[in-house]
Amino acid sequence: MSSYPYLILGGGMTADAAARAIREADPGGAVGLISAEPHPPYARPPLSKGLWKGDPEAGIWRGTETAGVELRLGRRVTAIDPKARTVTDDRGDRIGYGKLLLATGGTPRRLPLDSGQIIYFRTYDDYRRLRALANERLRFAVLGGGFIGTEVAAALRSVGSEVVMLVPEAGLGARVFPADLSRFLVDYYGEQGVETRTGEGLAGLTSRGGKVVVKTTTGAELSVDVVVAGLGILPNVELAEQAGLAVNNGIVVDDLLRAGSPEIFAAGDVANFFNPALGTRMRVEHEDNANTMGAAVGRAMAGQGAPYTHLPFFYSDLFALGYEAVGELDPRLETVADWKEPFREGVIYYVKEGRVRGVLLWNTWGQVDAARALIAEPGPFTPEVLRGRLPA
Ligand SMILES: Cc1cc2nc3c(=O)[nH]c(=O)nc-3n(C[C@H](O)[C@H](O)[C@H](O)COP(=O)(O)OP(=O)(O)OC[C@H]3O[C@@H](n4cnc5c(N)ncnc54)[C@H](O)[C@@H]3O)c2cc1C
Repeated sequence: MSSYPYLILGGGMTADAAARAIREADPGGAVGLISAEPHPPYARPPLSKGLWKGDPEAGIWRGTETAGVELRLGRRVTAIDPKARTVTDDRGDRIGYGKLLLATGGTPRRLPLDSGQIIYFRTYDDYRRLRALANERLRFAVLGGGFIGTEVAAALRSVGSEVVMLVPEAGLGARVFPADLSRFLVDYYGEQGVETRTGEGLAGLTSRGGKVVVKTTTGAELSVDVVVAGLGILPNVELAEQAGLAVNNGIVVDDLLRAGSPEIFAAGDVANFFNPALGTRMRVEHEDNANTMGAAVGRAMAGQGAPYTHLPFFYSDLFALGYEAVGELDPRLETVADWKEPFREGVIYYVKEGRVRGVLLWNTWGQVDAARALIAEPGPFTPEVLRGRLPA
């Protein structure tokens, strides 16, 4: 039986960051990494952005294998035995560990329909499949107007594909942006040639004459070639549950990122952690958290842990518009907009009881640290004080 002082489950950005941090903190300790994907770790954000604009695919690979990490790819871990300190993979191999990291990320939420004509967009292989289809100039239906839906629709359109979006909410990014900005994005996407059907979801799928017929919740029927589902992810918590670890919207970790055991840790999209600035537990599905928390957990596993207090930022590109954001972006909070040019450039503050909970930096760059500092301030803030607080 192979055994590693440090064993990482998962082959994403969190796993890569953790492996590197362990290497740095404990150069002598062997690191093993088991990933269900057939590829070594890579950056996911370019799959819906740069690669569609001509960035080379070679740029996505993290080079984890060159950092002295032993990769076991194309293997899914099916069980953890915390008493014996072993894991078992889908080939029946048992692997021992000293410290174990669960960096198992998330899996796209699936539709209750069994169809090979739906692409769930998460991995490099999903990108390759969609890109090949996009070269054929087909008609695509994108389900969902959130993070992945908006990016994939823009990516497909940017290479000339015909795209129709089905969005159950009243606008794009409606769970994050204030209603007026969300509605503006529908018009903006329309100007770019993307048809957005708001207030309309998927009711059923059938095949007819080589096409997919999408039946919508308003009774309409759309004939397309391919359906791409961007319905969010569910954290991969099954292993943690089976091992008896606490799970509540992700694997529950303490400030040193331990999952209720001194030997088992969790980080990245799958981890539910406490953030002191917001005074709440959260689970973050974004790159900055994967990289920063991954490095933090690697140090913690190697005995150099420090409380994880980082408030992650996130970002996205929507055709020529883009943003960075920090904290809680919940449009149900009071929002204070400070536009330099309406919907094109500005800052939106999300406020609760006079305290800033989140900041959206819309086409506004270099202000992430200032936004974090603002969220840490006790306030109270009035809209007048907030306007102009961060330079738009
Ligand atoms: C297309 C796309 C674009 C994105 N763009 C942005 C962006 O612009 N900005 C931003 O901030 N964030 C973005 N994100 C989010 C960001 O990429 C994620 O937050 C980050 O990849 C999470 O990394 P992770 O390692 O925690 O999880 P994941 O990337 O989900 O990796 C989990 C890994 O664990 C493996 N695994 C799961 N279960 C098992 C098991 N039982 N055994 C073995 N292996 C297992 C999986 O195969 C996978 O390799 C984007 C994500 C996607 C998909």
